[in-house]
Amino acid sequence: MSQDYDAIIIGAGSVGVPTAYFLAKEGMKVLVIEKNASAGQGENKAAIGGVRATHSDPAKIKICQESLKIFSTWKENTGTDIGWKEGGYCFPIYREQDAAMMQAILPIQKRHELNIDWIGDDELAKVVPGINRNGLLGGTYSPEDGQVSPLMAIESFTHEARKLGVEFKFREGVQELAMEGNAVTGVKTNKGEYSAPAVLNAAGAKGTQICKMAGLNIPIVPDSHEAGITSPVKRFLDPLVVDIRPGPEGKTKNFYFGQVESGQIIFCYTPIDPIIGEDKRATSEFMPILARRLVDLIPRMKGLTIRRLWRGLYPMTPDGVPIVGKCKVDGFYLCIGMCGQGFMMGPGIGANLANLIVKDKPIMKQSTWDFMRLDRSFKTDDVERLA
Ligand SMILES: Cc1cc2nc3c(=O)[nH]c(=O)nc-3n(C[C@H](O)[C@H](O)[C@H](O)COP(=O)(O)OP(=O)(O)OC[C@H]3O[C@@H](n4cnc5c(N)ncnc54)[C@H](O)[C@@H]3O)c2cc1C
Repeated sequence: MSQDYDAIIIGAGSVGVPTAYFLAKEGMKVLVIEKNASAGQGENKAAIGGVRATHSDPAKIKICQESLKIFSTWKENTGTDIGWKEGGYCFPIYREQDAAMMQAILPIQKRHELNIDWIGDDELAKVVPGINRNGLLGGTYSPEDGQVSPLMAIESFTHEARKLGVEFKFREGVQELAMEGNAVTGVKTNKGEYSAPAVLNAAGAKGTQICKMAGLNIPIVPDSHEAGITSPVKRFLDPLVVDIRPGPEGKTKNFYFGQVESGQIIFCYTPIDPIIGEDKRATSEFMPILARRLVDLIPRMKGLTIRRLWRGLYPMTPDGVPIVGKCKVDGFYLCIGMCGQGFMMGPGIGANLANLIVKDKPIMKQSTWDFMRLDRSFKTDDVERLA
């Protein structure tokens, strides 16, 4: 079979498009196949755009440090605004057990030279103006984390990738993988067949279906999350705020929100009972719950107008860490199970994957990269499942 491309990427989403961009920068001839009409129409457009390197898993830390570098310099390097705002992340803490959990992670984060610290309640009240101080113990604050617009970012990455020669085929779905022995050699879609020695599964919530085509069973379960955005108000809030307490109504776990560059408050939550499946119909069920949590936490939020609600999927792995890298099928690369952090990891993973595909090694240390390998133990880690 003749070789049409150096690499084929299945899925023009949070990780597929940046990976295409970095592969093309390495001189590869790249094809991206997307079943929707344009890039970012899967889960990318559902993300609220939080980007932080302050995780506890070493691979996620390294990847997001790389992503932060790319996002924060994108305008300088390409001339295009993607809504980057360096406002940090803040976890206000009201319960002793949460303080102990967050403080236990700090030494790991500091070992990775992350700019994060525990701050007292007075300082926290300056970082989050108007926060309810009743019972506030303090919290963690990482000023170098930030926010980006997922819609503006995917548009710009697609544009820059095209400039480097990446070909996009939209409204075309991959239906089968072409195999020769134990190697993937290309893809078959509803419109044609394309060959390449490297095929990347970046199909997001549909990643397990693509894996099945190569005989791989992958432990990923999509669950559904709702988010919303208000009308814009005068800028008053720098960080993205994560409240990790369960809601008093007994239905919600952590909820998180921030003020985007253009002034709107954007917010999201994790339900206590996961909404498993692919149903993305938005409901207004959570709106009164979140409105109350928001106003209880920052009373000055009262009076905001909610403009739009939506629902999207977290493709969840059992331990909250994605599955990325090579697998036992030659030429088949995985980049799936991005959970609730695929947008922030996209560029960092893309840069590393491009290196792996072209030079057979990621940019980061192999041992760190291997935290994301498919054949790991998948021990559940609740901290990694946070926003
Ligand atoms: C409410 C909400 C808020 C979130 N907030 C954040 C946040 O603040 N920060 C963050 O980092 N993450 C956030 N996320 C998570 C983030 O959106 C996802 O982790 C991320 O978008 C997944 O990226 P992906 O590239 O794996 O999938 P996607 O972006 O969904 O891309 C996969 C693409 O593959 C395509 N595809 C699938 N099957 C095929 C096929 N057979 N042929 C061709 N194309 C195919 C799909 O159409 C899709 O476009 C949030 C998610 C939700 C739902």
